[in-house]
Amino acid sequence: MPSQALSRELIRATLWALLGGLVGSRFGFAWLGVSVVLAFRLILHLRNLSALRAWLSSPKQVALPIVGGTWGEAFDGLLTLQKRNRKRKKKLAAILAEFQASTEALPDGAVVLGPNGEIVWFNAAAQALLGLRLPQDLGLRVPNLVRAPSFTEYFGKGDYSSDVEAVSAINPQIILAFRIIPYGNGQRLMIVRDISELKRMEMARRDFVANASHELRTPLTVLRGYLDVMEADARGEGALKAWHTPLAEMRSQATRMEMLIADMLKLARLESDVVLSRQDLLDVPRMLAQSLEEAKAVSKNAHRFEFEVQSDLRLFGRDTEVQSIFTNLIGNAIQYTPAGGIIRVRWWGDDKGAHFSVADTGIGIAEKDIPRITERFYRVDVGRSRASGGTGLGLSIVKHALEHHEGRLTVESEPGVGSTFACHFPPHRAHRGALRNELRAQAH
Ligand code: ADP
Repeated sequence: MPSQALSRELIRATLWALLGGLVGSRFGFAWLGVSVVLAFRLILHLRNLSALRAWLSSPKQVALPIVGGTWGEAFDGLLTLQKRNRKRKKKLAAILAEFQASTEALPDGAVVLGPNGEIVWFNAAAQALLGLRLPQDLGLRVPNLVRAPSFTEYFGKGDYSSDVEAVSAINPQIILAFRIIPYGNGQRLMIVRDISELKRMEMARRDFVANASHELRTPLTVLRGYLDVMEADARGEGALKAWHTPLAEMRSQATRMEMLIADMLKLARLESDVVLSRQDLLDVPRMLAQSLEEAKAVSKNAHRFEFEVQSDLRLFGRDTEVQSIFTNLIGNAIQYTPAGGIIRVRWWGDDKGAHFSVADTGIGIAEKDIPRITERFYRVDVGRSRASGGTGLGLSIVKHALEHHEGRLTVESEPGVGSTFACHFPPHRAHRGALRNELRAQAH
């Protein structure tokens, strides 16, 4: 308590002054006695103060004097504080050493970046993966060291919600995945992983599916050839007359298999293609008019179609991929909507981009199934899907084709009421109005 210490000090000084006065009065110099005692106490205080100053400037070299009273208490307090600080420092140093040891042991590269993207610290794995040198590269800005365009774009964008992949600058065989995690005051932690093996496995799987699908085509063509001959025979009065029904079933199964192979090949192609930022400017209204004709033919007039299409809205994209998005979503709406239902197709643009949606009044999808329907071969009702000729790959194709167009799929559905599948394309992919060469053609 500061006030307690002060009053104790005052009492002590008064007692000493009285004693000095008493001794002084013996010789007839009471005030001199008081002054001498007080001066002596003042010198003591000054000595302790200068000892404290010396200790504060180098606590390791100078020891605090062992004294009693308020100074003694103050010195004790300071020593306890120092001890506590030393302990805390030791603990922090141990934690830091442990952190550094564990990050050194990480197979992933870790790089700490300062507010301007300059390298502050990195571990051994980062050294190996990025070819960083210690200490030359400390303080260098990371975009000057990792020069892959995909990384430069990722770093500049500042949206670090996902990883970015780039070929390693020191070995083109190595593919790296970068992830930046912002923290603290403008600092960032960059994690680098070698994903070459993963990529190789992915490629091997894709190649296998593509090759297997391709290989299946030849035997299927042979079977279809025989089926053609046998069906012709079964139609007449030939030996295969009784085989009419089994042959029709064989034909339908062969067609299904062909559809499966076609979808598997389509998906393999979609997966292996790199994303191209801009492609052709597609006349979506014309494509949709054609889809409507096809849809009516498939539905055999069992459904009512409503088309609401913004006629001047086009899309930068790939013709075949966008067409397969339209065909699959409209096809599904027809497949999963009982006769008499309504299918509403919309194509419109706003400040968020271009949008395509297909809404139906069909059987709908339970909430728990919605997140899974874009998985390969996932069907809510396998029997129903197979019976209606579905391959189980349609929505996977839609999802991949959309990813190639920086698009996003949303699904809203209620069992027994209907479903709405919507595709959202970013604004830079949308184009409104006629093209320059069309305007020129109109002017002539
Ligand atoms: P499939 O060839 O089986 O239709 P998809 O990948 O196109 O494969 O669709 C996956 C599953 O999603 C379907 O089996 C079906 O259960 C469900 N589904 C897709 N579209 C609709 C829809 N419009 N209404 C109800 N269910 C749907």
